[in-house]
Amino acid sequence: MGKKASSPSTTYYNWRSQLCSAALLCLGLALSPHALAATAATAATDATNARAATEPSASEKEQVAAKVMARQEAMQQVLAQGSKCVSNAPDDYNGKVWQIGTDNAFAPFAFIDAQGELKGIDVDLLAKIAENAGFKYRMCSQDFAPLLPAVAAGKLDGAMAGISYTVPRAQTLEFSKRYYNSAVAVVAAKSEQSQLQSIQQVMGKTVAVKAGTLGEDIANGLKEARQFTVKSYPNSMASMLAVFQGEADFLLEDYPVAVYELTSGLYSNLMIVIPRLPNVGNSESYHFVVAKDNKESQQLLQAFNEGLEKVIVNGDYKAVVAKYLPEAPASVFVSGNAPVEVKATAAEKEAAAVQ
Ligand code: GLN
Repeated sequence: MGKKASSPSTTYYNWRSQLCSAALLCLGLALSPHALAATAATAATDATNARAATEPSASEKEQVAAKVMARQEAMQQVLAQGSKCVSNAPDDYNGKVWQIGTDNAFAPFAFIDAQGELKGIDVDLLAKIAENAGFKYRMCSQDFAPLLPAVAAGKLDGAMAGISYTVPRAQTLEFSKRYYNSAVAVVAAKSEQSQLQSIQQVMGKTVAVKAGTLGEDIANGLKEARQFTVKSYPNSMASMLAVFQGEADFLLEDYPVAVYELTSGLYSNLMIVIPRLPNVGNSESYHFVVAKDNKESQQLLQAFNEGLEKVIVNGDYKAVVAKYLPEAPASVFVSGNAPVEVKATAAEKEAAAVQ
């Protein structure tokens, strides 16, 4: 970690303009692989040549690698200190304190900073929502992979960690109204940019993902057809490091998180090659979640939704997002007026059927 809430790169706001150049790979990911395999070998040779042409020198690479490794180590030390918690309940409070889980390494939504404090849009937003809805909670950080199973099993009352809606998750979890419009992006070495945009060449790649995420689901869903090798890592930084070090060809990561990571300036050889994968439907939105079919959880969910509505209207919501993403475009904000329905797209239903 080691990052303060800092201003993201202006690339944050170019995602729409990048959609056209991204469209080919997007198609490549969506189309059937027939006839693609034959061209894979040629593609691999071209890729090697392209890589050689743009590769930084060995000493440049070493310097950057040393910095990235130092940052990774610092982060590992912070994570090794264990879960960090924040609460709005006084120590002697006797009433209900909802136990909420969040991510420990998903900046700028939830992360432990260099000072060992739990920070992020979700952390601040929940504080404002609880203040406005009048409930007490304790929010603690952890690795993402076991988070949603813990909520479904009733070990936690709820979770807020940039959680995307997916059909399989909706079988055990109930989703709040959405509070952020996100997207799943593809990050790769700059030298891979051209070939990743050619559908003939998106075969046989190694994909880095974060365990338990929608990105992992997407990669696994494509694995067979695309002959991908999927490598799962415990957190967002580890999957980016894997691509940086060449352990994987690209990673799937939520767009604002990829932007935030890349603005650390360390991963000089990486870029967002696809800002937004299509066909993820409502999975682009972030929600608070509770266990499904649980009366107590319903109270919490209702309180969250009411509080969210209030902070959207009173401006707290925009202020919190702007604190971490000062140049966030209007498209990421939700509006308080329209109820946010969650409906599965045809693609999501299909993906769910495959799993
Ligand atoms: N939005 C992604 C998901 O819900 C990633 C969340 C995270 O890593 N905290 O799977």
